[in-house]
Amino acid sequence: MPDILIGNGTVVTLGAGNQLIEQGGVLVRGERIAAIGAGSELRQQYPDAQYVDAGGGLIMPGFLCAHTHFYGAFARGMATPGEPPRNFLEILERLWWRLDRLLTLEDTLASAEVFLADAIRHGTTCVVDHHASPNAVEGSLDVIAEVVEQAGTRACLAYEVSDRDGPAVINAGIRENERFIRSLRSQRRQQAEAGMIAASYGLHASFTLSPATLERCASGGADLGVGFHVHVAEDASDENDSITRYGARTVDRLEAASILGPRSIAAHCVHVDSGEIGRLAATRSNSVHNPRSNMNNAVGRAPVEDMLRAGVNVGLGNDGFSMNMMQEMKAAYLMHKLALSDPRVMPADIVLDMAFRRNARIMEAVFSPFCSDFPRVGALSVGAAADLVLLDYWPPTPISVGNFPWHLIFGIDAQHVNSTMVAGRWLMRNRRLLTLDEERVHARARELAGSLWKRM
Ligand SMILES: [Zn+2]
Repeated sequence: MPDILIGNGTVVTLGAGNQLIEQGGVLVRGERIAAIGAGSELRQQYPDAQYVDAGGGLIMPGFLCAHTHFYGAFARGMATPGEPPRNFLEILERLWWRLDRLLTLEDTLASAEVFLADAIRHGTTCVVDHHASPNAVEGSLDVIAEVVEQAGTRACLAYEVSDRDGPAVINAGIRENERFIRSLRSQRRQQAEAGMIAASYGLHASFTLSPATLERCASGGADLGVGFHVHVAEDASDENDSITRYGARTVDRLEAASILGPRSIAAHCVHVDSGEIGRLAATRSNSVHNPRSNMNNAVGRAPVEDMLRAGVNVGLGNDGFSMNMMQEMKAAYLMHKLALSDPRVMPADIVLDMAFRRNARIMEAVFSPFCSDFPRVGALSVGAAADLVLLDYWPPTPISVGNFPWHLIFGIDAQHVNSTMVAGRWLMRNRRLLTLDEERVHARARELAGSLWKRM
């Protein structure tokens, strides 16, 4: 494969040595970035590289998503049968748990295709998924892994273990996580060692996990050397359940069960108190903020800045909303200001730091058990992953390293993304997807989702 030199663009590197280079260029060699600098100099230095003209737009790292549910693709436009759900538990019972029980392996495959096509189109290059299909558990993570491989993105997968469907489904969920994790060190070793696929041990949430199930998963995850991916205090009901049944708050219960730690992801953390925030920090657990989902479910506002101040690594996810992380960033930027009646909270640079540097730390934590040299993501630097996006954004106002986060919140959006590269390979060029046939993917998903809605 020849080197690729992307030039004639404004390079925004992000990362530790954050630079904004006008008329800059990025040299891609194999799966990594080999040089960054002035475009004209790179052209002289690397005359044999295949030249790609960024058209004067932006060249920046691919977006990252630290918590999603691919199967959420099938809920787009779906009416919830019966009375509108009044609260979070009713949303789960009437919508999500009815939907996921009906998913077949074919549905799982089709929804993963929709989400990964969506990810590529929006420049999202690395995602962490959390899957549930209680009546088609076995092999579900393989089905998703094959779509990930075809799409060409990076992904960390997990199956959501839960007590809600009885002992047979608990056992199947545990087996699926453990089988898939082992496969990353055997049949799928190459893909895993290349940093393209990873796994964490999936758990639904404290309120659907008995002490016995938690204990089995904790011991399985520890033996396999992986962290856990679990919803934590998304709604007040999760805290109330834990306090009433176990006499401990949710984070304390999970810590006592050995679920927390530097490789674990605690999604949401909307209702954690200051003591729990302290435990998340002390165990170096990762939290993931999903503002669109939290607003949609009306569950509350996560104390994101309190967690950050306490030293918790808080990343950004979409919890099954669209793979447009720019939308998620805008939602994060806006919701805290409104909720706290304070325009000073959650400035754009903090949002950008969560979406890139902090999400990258989560990716490093979940991929490194399977990949001895996981490349840096979320930043462009020599040796980092060649995971980048090109945007047709010609700033209407001055742009600098300092104000770039505000350009991202107020100026840049999905329509600007024209090309997406992962591990040195173009997955989209000039808005045309190269690894997935979007028309076919959507037609098939529309058919399968329609039939699933009828079964509901
Ligand atoms: Zn979720």
